[in-house]
Formats: sequence, C-alpha cells, structure tokens
Amino acid sequence: MAIQKVGVCGSGTMGNGIAHVFAATGFQVVMRDVKTEFVERGLNTISKNLQRGVDKGRMTAEEKEAVLGRIQPTVELNDLKDCDFVVEAITENYDIKKALIQDLDKMLPEGVIIASNTSSISITKLAALTGRSDSVIGMHFMNPVPVMKLVEIIRGAQTSDETMKKVLELTEKLGKVGAEVNDYPGFIANRILMPMINEAIFALMEGVGTVESIDTVMKLGMNHPMGPLTLADFIGLDVCLFILQVMYDGFKDPKYRPCPLLVKMVDAGYLGRKSGKGFYDYSR
Ligand code: NAD
Repeated sequence: MAIQKVGVCGSGTMGNGIAHVFAATGFQVVMRDVKTEFVERGLNTISKNLQRGVDKGRMTAEEKEAVLGRIQPTVELNDLKDCDFVVEAITENYDIKKALIQDLDKMLPEGVIIASNTSSISITKLAALTGRSDSVIGMHFMNPVPVMKLVEIIRGAQTSDETMKKVLELTEKLGKVGAEVNDYPGFIANRILMPMINEAIFALMEGVGTVESIDTVMKLGMNHPMGPLTLADFIGLDVCLFILQVMYDGFKDPKYRPCPLLVKMVDAGYLGRKSGKGFYDYSR
C-alpha cells in the first residue's frame, strides 16, 4: 500500500517541522496535538517558515497555500485512524509516549508503520508495547527539520527489513538522507556529539581554555560550523544533560558521566539560548 496520508503527533518544535516537510513533498498530513492553541501555534510556525521561502523566491504564494492546505490540524486522535503512516514527535517522556503508542496501535489498521522521533527512548521498548513490533521504527529528524538533511532511521530489535526499506524510501522522497542505525542509547548522532560537548565543558571547567578559545579551536581547527559550547547553548543545556544521563544509565560506562559544570548550569537555570543565558549571554 502506497503511503499517501501521514499522521504527525505533536506540533511542537519537531512535529511542525515534520508536518511541514511531508506536506511540502505532497503528502496529506494530519497534525495532532492535545490543545487547539498548540496545533494553531504549530501551523503558524509552518506558515512563517514557508513565507520565508516565498520571500526568497523559492516558492510562490500559491505553492505555500497548497502546502498549508494539505495539513489538517486536529486535537482528535481519531482523525488519524485512516493514515497510512504515523510519526510521533510528542513530549520526550516514556509514560506519555507509551499511552499514545498503545492508543495508536489499537486504532490503526494492521501493517501501518508507527515511527518515533524520540532522541533517547529505546525503539525496542516502544515497539514491545504494541502488537505490531515489526512495524515500529525510529525516525530521528534533526532540528530544524525543513533545513537538516539527515534522518537517523533506527531499527529496533523487532523491526522488519520491509519496514526499514519502506521508511528509507519515504525518507528519500522527503529529500532527506536516511542513515541506518541499530537501537542503542544515543543512536549515532548523540553518541558521538554529546561526549564531545561534554568534554568541551570539562575543558572549560578545568580551565584548559575559555568559552571563546574552546569554540575557536573546534571551529577553525576542525572546520566545525559552530563550536561545541555554542552548539550546546543552541540544543539546550538541559537537553544535553538529559541525553548524557540516558547514555550513562544505558551503558553504565563512566565515559558518559555528565560534567559537574553542566549539571550546575542546568541547576542554575542557565539552559542556553532559550533561557537567555548559557555559555554565552543572549539577553541583549
Ligand atoms: P516540544 O515540547 O516542542 O513539542 C512536543 C509537543 O507534543 C507539545 O506541543 C505537546 O503538547 C505535544 N504532545 C504531548 N502529548 C501529546 C499527545 N499525546 N498527542 C499529541 N501531542 C502531544 O518537543 P520537541 O522538541 O518537538 O520534541 C518532540 C520529540 O522530538 C521528542 O521525542 C524529542 O526527543 C525529539 N527530538 C527533539 C529534537 C529537538 O532538537 N528539539 C531533535 C530531535 C528529536
């Protein structure tokens, strides 16, 4: 069965980006959140991001309206019942995801793939909640979704080859590149990125360098587009800490122990860009 109608659960940072790229590729999208104001805010963000494309001459105003017209916003889970594929990008909390995935499993016809955009929860564990564990997979988009090419495609222990193939094809249709990943804490992206960010914070804490010198070394010396401390501020220091804790717990390996300075900054409410202060000051 060809995938034509896609359900997106969650219309926050990632959910509205995912709905945007599916609709821009021609899919019918049902975007669901729990409150009308949340779906409206998600739809507004999509509209603003599309308008940027119109302003830059990358699409016409009619094309923008056509993309928006393919997105049906809703607060009713039942509106997803005839979707051919569902991806969830809801709050990163196991119990909240568990309830949704079990409801989706009950409601969706057999064979419909359920994908999760989780950054840190085991796909194997989410799949085991359902009666279709071979059709559950991780589809880990990067932020901002309309811009970033990569999607980590995570194979849970039970994910079938057919599900993997269908999701890789779907990713390609979206104009993205899928990288196959086996299900271990942090997948590939965070497994490699977070220890680097953590080490940069250790280097800062131990006085090896200043914030600026650490970022300059990695930018100019390694050709990274942004330094690790700038990137940590962008991602959110609470998110970095949470992912490191997931890897530390998951592997029981001290190499993932979160730097005490990171813990202290999160305790202080210095979360990076979103709080106005992290390794840099964003208040002005
Ligand atoms: P967010 O807080 O911006 O959005 C989550 C949305 O889910 C909220 O609007 C919330 O109301 C909604 N929601 C909660 N329960 C729901 C339900 N049962 N049905 C429908 N909607 C529900 O979070 P986010 O940053 O978009 O993250 C979403 C997921 O994407 C998480 O699993 C996260 O780990 C993952 N992720 C985030 C990033 C990132 O950079 N933010 C990157 C990759 C993956």
